[in-house]
Amino acid sequence: MLPQKPDKKFKRSIAESGGDDLNKCYQCATCSAVCLLTPEDHPFPRKEMLLAQWGQSDKLVADPDVWLCHQCNDCTVRCPRGARPGDVMGAIRNYSFEHYAVPGFLGKLVSKPAGLPFLMLIPILIFVFMADWSQMATFSGHVHFYDFLQNGPLEMLFMAGNFIVLLLASFGLIRFYKGMADSWKVKPEIGFIKAAIQTVLEIISHKRFGTCDTSKYRQTAHFLVFYGFFGAAATAGLALMRMEYLHFIHPEHYALSNIPSMMLYHPIKILGNASGLAMIIGIIMMATRHSNDPESAGVSTYAGKIFIWGIFGVAFTGMLIQFLRIGGLPTLAYAFYFIHLVFVFSLLWYAPYSQFGHMFYRTFAMIFARSINRMPQKQ
Ligand code: SF4
Ligand code: SF4
Repeated sequence: MLPQKPDKKFKRSIAESGGDDLNKCYQCATCSAVCLLTPEDHPFPRKEMLLAQWGQSDKLVADPDVWLCHQCNDCTVRCPRGARPGDVMGAIRNYSFEHYAVPGFLGKLVSKPAGLPFLMLIPILIFVFMADWSQMATFSGHVHFYDFLQNGPLEMLFMAGNFIVLLLASFGLIRFYKGMADSWKVKPEIGFIKAAIQTVLEIISHKRFGTCDTSKYRQTAHFLVFYGFFGAAATAGLALMRMEYLHFIHPEHYALSNIPSMMLYHPIKILGNASGLAMIIGIIMMATRHSNDPESAGVSTYAGKIFIWGIFGVAFTGMLIQFLRIGGLPTLAYAFYFIHLVFVFSLLWYAPYSQFGHMFYRTFAMIFARSINRMPQKQ
């Protein structure tokens, strides 16, 4: 007898997120044999294919193995039945991620196209309310972003928003970690801190991405987006510290201390532009792979598309507004600054529910796997 009655809602969700060929699997185990990331003991993805066919959602949402898969699709291109195990693993990750989201309704809203207009409307209304629209009437001349949207309220919004987002994300992550520990019931062999340090070092090197046969190109693309994103986050953090410093020590320079107003040769600006460029190149590489090699790239899901367009939107508008400032085009500069902020804040506020949050779930799954000594042997 199955431990859980087959969960039909789960099976529907897997089919909708790219796992519609799941039932073609006849358990030959080729996928597990070719996967270079699976541990030898109870290897994936064959067992996940079976559990998913049986609709065993309880087991799968708390399965760290689902997150040890990097969707290289080595297994998918070799599956004799065309069951697309790599995409099924991705679909299970999306389901698990939505399952642990706090609050749950936000997880559902972010995962469905119907939720997008409502989600975008929140930052749009906030910035419509905060902006001084009379500045848009100046068509040429100096661009003063501070006059359009003041630094102080923006700083407050940034800090308060990040605090709430991190708090909600940590609730979801704690539920996920507890779920894995309750489901696996294996005594940890390595302490959490030690496992966390080893995991972070591994993520920094992107070593696991380079292990699969088909993923060298994807490793480079992911590497660029990953470091581009952290470079952009570091840019925002450093700019915030500089703003605070100028606010109290040199208040006469405070108005021009926001990122788009900085000179191009300022080190923070150089970091921001290099990060933006890295993200744009990485995203173009990801998109090109999808059109040139759709089989190994896997299905293009709504979550994946939103992630790609969100990053591209932040990087592209961020770089564009500085050139509009230099070109002395205030109306266009303010309009794109507005769009840029909507992209930035949407990306930050919805991070725990979008593909961005996968990064944190994967990290916690890897920490758990490492702590119970469940890491691949084939590398
Ligand atoms: S997914 Fe494909 S390769 Fe894996 S067990 Fe099923 S049929 Fe075999
Ligand atoms: S997609 Fe790659 S990492 Fe994931 S199960 Fe298949 S072969 Fe392994």
